[in-house]
Amino acid sequence: GYRKGGYHAVRPGDLFAAGRYVAQRKLGWGNFSTVWLAFDVQLQKYVALKIQKSAPEFAQAALHEIEFLTEITKRDPSNCKCIIQLIDHFKHTGPNGQHICLVFEFLGDSLLKLVQYNRYKGIGMDRVKRICKSILVGLDYLHSELGIIHSDLKLENVLLVSTIDPSKDPIRSGLKPNLERPEGNPNGEAGLNPIEKKLKMRARRVLAKLAERRKSVAESSRAERSLDGIDLTCKIVDFGNACWADKQYTDFIQTRQYRAPEIILGAGYSFSVDMWSFACIAFELAAGEMLFTPKEGHGYSEDEDHLALMMELLGKMPKKIATTGSRSKEYFDRHGDLKRIRRLKFSSVERILVDKYGVPESDAREFANFLCPLLDFAPEKRPTAADCLQHPWLQYDDDKSSGALNSDEVNSVNLTNSTGITISSCKNVD
Ligand code: ADP
Ligand code: MG
Repeated sequence: GYRKGGYHAVRPGDLFAAGRYVAQRKLGWGNFSTVWLAFDVQLQKYVALKIQKSAPEFAQAALHEIEFLTEITKRDPSNCKCIIQLIDHFKHTGPNGQHICLVFEFLGDSLLKLVQYNRYKGIGMDRVKRICKSILVGLDYLHSELGIIHSDLKLENVLLVSTIDPSKDPIRSGLKPNLERPEGNPNGEAGLNPIEKKLKMRARRVLAKLAERRKSVAESSRAERSLDGIDLTCKIVDFGNACWADKQYTDFIQTRQYRAPEIILGAGYSFSVDMWSFACIAFELAAGEMLFTPKEGHGYSEDEDHLALMMELLGKMPKKIATTGSRSKEYFDRHGDLKRIRRLKFSSVERILVDKYGVPESDAREFANFLCPLLDFAPEKRPTAADCLQHPWLQYDDDKSSGALNSDEVNSVNLTNSTGITISSCKNVD
């Protein structure tokens, strides 16, 4: 929390980097940081300001992230590779210590929000294709040009980009950059006497009411707003867990549901772990639910359940792969059968898409044809991002199936980002 070594408390109007950035409002947070929308006074534009916790291990992680982002940004001067761009970084000293701050281009909602807005029903195949294309452009850049493995691809770590002109965005009118610094001690109430505190509480209540009213106005204009112009490109973010393929720091990576089998088995890994996670993301966008949600059960672990779920969907794991990881013996007997989960109910990606998620047969077949090679138990057999970009499933007519949203789809999908502010994007993904 907000203590020594922890988060830095920020209030709207707080200044960073000798006044260059003015904090506007909180956008999100992670275990390591809080992320604020800020106004860059020098370049007169909005940015995302990530303020890391101050303890040494967090500072170390931020320096690690900066190392990767600097390289990523430097080698993509035209900002077309579907990866977040780092604009600046600096140190900021506050009452809880010294915080490393990263300044990013400001992006929209994450794919997780997009799926949530659609009530976990899937976002439609045209949009799935469009988003997949962006992610693949990003992965191809990371893998073949930079030699970087992201290691933590998931819906939260892919953010949408929108092309709506911010000056024409109705929601933005309520969000003019706030360049005022609030009165009083910027870092909390400690410096206030009882009367000041009382006044401040009163002011806070009034402000809260105002914010409430403004929110309801924003909500209604959000519903009326045409969503034309959102082209569904997106960008990969969060390089806190990235590594160089030839310099790995740990053998245990990725978020559970997106974790590749070779990680569970302790069999080493390469770029193809990202391709496995990518397939999980693509499925989740189409179905609205995660591909694998393993759970610990009576007599078996979450890991073993995960392996069982993979085999039920993709067929039995080849014995050679199942038995040669450093942790294989925990799960498999010498015949290559799971030790504690004996009966598997086999299905297929195509059947699940049709039967459980109501995807039309032909769509399901084409999609499964794209997806299944990525879910090969043999990492070296998985197609690369460059291979995927050549796949027939992604050779669609851009104008005919644009994936962009029409205004009659306002009720089926709500793409407005939480602040209503958008930035222009690079369009030459193709
Ligand atoms: P952590 O490493 O602490 O998890 P992240 O980099 O994942 O931090 O950022 C935390 C959250 O902040 C994200 O999930 C997202 O909601 C928001 N966020 C991060 N970067 C941006 C950005 N460039 N534009 C808009 N929101 C962002
Ligand atoms: Mg994160």
